[in-house]
Amino acid sequence: MYTLTGLDGQPYPSPSPGTLGGHRRGRLYGRLDCPSALRAIARGGYVGQRVFFADEATAIAAGYRPCAVCLPDEYARWKHDPRRSSRRPAPPPA
Ligand SMILES: [Zn+2]
Repeated sequence: MYTLTGLDGQPYPSPSPGTLGGHRRGRLYGRLDCPSALRAIARGGYVGQRVFFADEATAIAAGYRPCAVCLPDEYARWKHDPRRSSRRPAPPPA
C-alpha cells in the first residue's frame, strides 16, 4: 500500500502510487522527477515533508499549488487564476 494525500489534505492508504509529489510545508506539488525536488531530497531536507497525490485535481483541492520548475504551464495558470484562493478543484478545461 502507498500513502497518498487526499482532497482534504489528510493522508490515506492507496493500493496504487501517486502520480504527483508534493511538499507538505511548502504546499507545493510537482512531478515525481522534478529536478528541484530531487535536489532538495539529495540534500536530505525534503523527505520528511514529502507527500503524494493521485492526480492534479486532488493536489489542488488539498490546497497545494503547482511547482514553477517542473509544471510551468500549470503554475502560470494557477498564478493567473482569480479563484485560486478557493480550495475547490478547478473545472476541467473546455
Ligand atoms: Zn517541481
